[in-house]
Amino acid sequence: MSTTSFTKKTVGIDAVEPAVTPPPPGTETTLAKKPKLGATKSKKREIPEGLWTKCPKCSTMIFDRELDENLKVCVKCSHHFPISARERINSLVETCSFEEMDAQMVSVDVLQFTGVASYSDKLASYQKSTALKDAIITGLGKIGGHRVALGVMDFEFIGGSMGAVVGEKLTRLIEIATERGFPIIIISASGGARMYEGMFSLMQMAKTCGALALHSRARLPYISVLTHPTTAGVMASYASVGDLIIAEPGATIGFAGPRVIKDTTQAELPPGFQTAEFLLDHGLIDAIVPRKEMKERLAYYLEFLGEGQSKLAALG
Ligand SMILES: [Zn+2]
Repeated sequence: MSTTSFTKKTVGIDAVEPAVTPPPPGTETTLAKKPKLGATKSKKREIPEGLWTKCPKCSTMIFDRELDENLKVCVKCSHHFPISARERINSLVETCSFEEMDAQMVSVDVLQFTGVASYSDKLASYQKSTALKDAIITGLGKIGGHRVALGVMDFEFIGGSMGAVVGEKLTRLIEIATERGFPIIIISASGGARMYEGMFSLMQMAKTCGALALHSRARLPYISVLTHPTTAGVMASYASVGDLIIAEPGATIGFAGPRVIKDTTQAELPPGFQTAEFLLDHGLIDAIVPRKEMKERLAYYLEFLGEGQSKLAALG
């Protein structure tokens, strides 16, 4: 500042002013953009990170902000990109209606498992990179006019694998829902059971299904939403026992991988095997719902199932 006023006095305002005055905002943007465009031209494959994303299906370059605004769905071909659990919850529940449960629950390395890295280190690094404590967020919220118990998995956290924390958080959620008479919606995205927790992860399959059986006995609805990918231990437990099972377009859904099935059965697998579309045709799922219609459709299903519930109650 002092240098500026000194120069002004000695050299003359007009000559020096442009050099010390910051360029107007418009000019700044143009100047900042130019070198980036140049850089992209010279190195064809280098795309500035965090600005653009290439759609793996149609190869369109999509501006990240546009992709976020479109709930991570390609604007051109409707390819569904992965979406974080928090973004998913925000896209579904009414504003400020979500009360998270067991937010601080973390896994313990009971088996002292060590592979390339120790399980404890792995947990710590994923907790840091995803800002999550484990692969699921659970809580109570409102969709349309309906109070629901909502569990949303996040594939970014160790492949959405189900360990003791995922199982315990879900079980507590289901139990609260049964106690209070709420429907349950679980949105799955998982590679299956978390092998770092061995038998403890496999036990979660029975535990969650046991809790769901009690919820079902109370004649309360459960909607299972399968997103890309929902496989193995999760698909073989709570994800496949919904009163309604719906999926996002193009989601991979299955138990074992295609290679294992092919080797075991020694049979050629049909095209499109293990996709949501194939499973809809073969009756494993009830509907395919695009992400942008998900909230509206869930509210509709809740309304529909709720009506049935009150009719049942009236019948005694
Ligand atoms: Zn696309």
